[in-house]
Amino acid sequence: MKQQQTIAGRVTSYYSATMNQSLDYPMLQDTIDTDVVIIGGGFTGVASAVELAERGFRVALVEASRIGWGASGRNGGQVTGSLSGDEAMRREMRKTLGGEVDDFIWHLRWRGHEIIKSRVEKYGIQCDLRHGHLHAACKPAHMKELESSYQEAQQHGMGEEVSLLDAAGVRELLDTDFYCGAIRNNRNMHLHPLNLCVGEAKAAAGLGVQIFEQTRVEEILHGEQPAVITSQGRINARHVLLAGDVYHRLEQKKLKGMIFPAMGGIVTTEPLGELAQQINPHNLAVYDCRFVLDYYRMTADQRLLFGGGCNYSGRDSRDIAAELRPAIERTFPRLKGVEIEFEWSCAMGIVINRIPQLGRLSPNVWFCQGYSGHGIASSHIMGEIMADAISGHLEQFDTFAACKQIRVPLGGLLGNPMLAAGMWYYQLRERLR
Ligand SMILES: Cc1cc2nc3c(=O)[nH]c(=O)nc-3n(C[C@H](O)[C@H](O)[C@H](O)COP(=O)(O)OP(=O)(O)OC[C@H]3O[C@@H](n4cnc5c(N)ncnc54)[C@H](O)[C@@H]3O)c2cc1C
Repeated sequence: MKQQQTIAGRVTSYYSATMNQSLDYPMLQDTIDTDVVIIGGGFTGVASAVELAERGFRVALVEASRIGWGASGRNGGQVTGSLSGDEAMRREMRKTLGGEVDDFIWHLRWRGHEIIKSRVEKYGIQCDLRHGHLHAACKPAHMKELESSYQEAQQHGMGEEVSLLDAAGVRELLDTDFYCGAIRNNRNMHLHPLNLCVGEAKAAAGLGVQIFEQTRVEEILHGEQPAVITSQGRINARHVLLAGDVYHRLEQKKLKGMIFPAMGGIVTTEPLGELAQQINPHNLAVYDCRFVLDYYRMTADQRLLFGGGCNYSGRDSRDIAAELRPAIERTFPRLKGVEIEFEWSCAMGIVINRIPQLGRLSPNVWFCQGYSGHGIASSHIMGEIMADAISGHLEQFDTFAACKQIRVPLGGLLGNPMLAAGMWYYQLRERLR
């Protein structure tokens, strides 16, 4: 396996090489008091911090490495209305919401987009935000799925924001014969996730949030006045929010076996100049309908950013560029032999039933994790829900917390092999479709 390079505490990637600001926050070396301490400086932690600070809470945000170090700063950058486990959610939430469940989930689908757009505007965050997305079909069976999504969108009044395309329609937008159709969705977006994350952190700091980097939380103390212990400090608070997704090992008694890492690899090509206009002239983000899918988009400097081939065993890839090159060249034959300038990988948190896990470990210690590869919009939605809950408005939190959370006995020992076997089964089923 190639060792991922790190510069100033950040994994080298296209994103870290094109950060538009590099604010450093101090390490905690003291005891402080606050209202809410948040563990984890990814989107869940940072978005919750902004929400809480906007409501007047005193907040401390503690990150073991650097803001955006985890999946939030290394992902595909696609902000889509796809909630990973929406079918399971519908089933589970029907128990609490009854007939309102469909509207609740439809609203949730797009809430993250609204939060991100208004936050980018409000705080002037430069993160290359663009609208336009294709969900593409690789074979006729996929088209059925897309047709029903299209009908659902029409029933909810999306009108011309979405359109259903055949192979020729896709060919007009992308220089490829790989797809037999797609849904074009102009509400979906893509962006530079690390710049969004550090931009939101800067906004949070501007609102008075105390941010600490290189500060790992080692223990959570429960009680009426909970606290977190770090290697060189302590934070006393009224509430603790655990937002470390798949990277934290805290509270294993209650959380072990609930979330598992799947490794995803991403590359970017050299800047493509004119060629970028030829392969993807409308700068659409794209992902396809397969269980293990390819996803890509253009960057602001006209590179193709391409990801795919998730590894559910939880192990890292040996050579990401070599693994993704055939998929790039199969999709865009014009890119044969293109230079790949950046490659990186990252773990994403997968939960078995794909329903984000929200809950309480004790009355004032909360957790929120597990978006199964669809976390940019979801983490912002959850940030709002967690801030509501901590403010005493528990309705949406309770709806999530009431969903069955599946725990795999023996945790890490069985979880990843189970996921890998599950994915193998779904891939096999898909080949037969
Ligand atoms: C390769 C890849 C591609 C993806 N592509 C997309 C995409 O295109 N669209 C999309 O919507 N989603 C995508 N995702 C998923 C999305 O990135 C994640 O769901 C989301 O970023 C999770 O955010 P988070 O804040 O919960 O976790 P993270 O961003 O992982 O942040 C958790 C943070 O907690 C910190 N932490 C952990 N333990 C401690 C501790 N003890 N003390 C202090 N800090 C701690 C970690 O250092 C880390 O920075 C992708 C994920 C991957 C890996």
